Amino acid sequence: MRRLLLATRNLGKLREFQALLPEYRVEGLAAFPDLPMWEERGDTFEENATEKARIVGRHTGQPALADDSGLEVDALGGEPGVHSARFAGADADDAANVRRLLERLRGRADRRARFRCVLVLVLPDGRAFNAQGLLEGRIAGERRGGSGFGYDPIFVPQGYRRTLAELGPDIKNRLSHRARAVEALRPVLVRVLAP
Ligand code: IMP
Repeated sequence: MRRLLLATRNLGKLREFQALLPEYRVEGLAAFPDLPMWEERGDTFEENATEKARIVGRHTGQPALADDSGLEVDALGGEPGVHSARFAGADADDAANVRRLLERLRGRADRRARFRCVLVLVLPDGRAFNAQGLLEGRIAGERRGGSGFGYDPIFVPQGYRRTLAELGPDIKNRLSHRARAVEALRPVLVRVLAP
């Protein structure tokens, strides 16, 4: 089975890619402890994903896939967006980010939001390929459910009443922004990196 390196240290993301791309052996960065750390300084998901994929590709000499993703909340003008992982501060964890978002939206009627995922695949010859996926929904009034990661406990996908963390991985992987981005990238993957 063909190996595909995923430029992430986020175990939640890694598990989802392993389920979404069963035809590849998707691996995280555990085998590369010396890899330089990147800072997500870009203003867009595309810039950040490209930077991560290029660093990992350059360091390992292997095809590298990167995901940059986040939550865009309409009532906050699209925030936290590219700052989703650090919404409550530089060292914030998922629980702190969720608390901060619920506080910022307290009393607000407009709860519309979407997850956005941008994927960038970089090949050893320097070629790069992009794909994007969106998941529309709304922010719940309180956290519910125990599965997933990040903002899953407060995100209710359009057409559902339960949060992603209540719906669980099988349903999430059928409708998520990440699943949609993988579907958009799949024809490229098959063409340039046959499993
Ligand atoms: P990144 O590593 O900069 O792409 O961070 C993405 C951040 O966005 C994560 O730390 C989460 O806070 C949030 N995020 C992205 N995708 C998801 C998801 O599928 N569920 C919940 N939160 C997500």
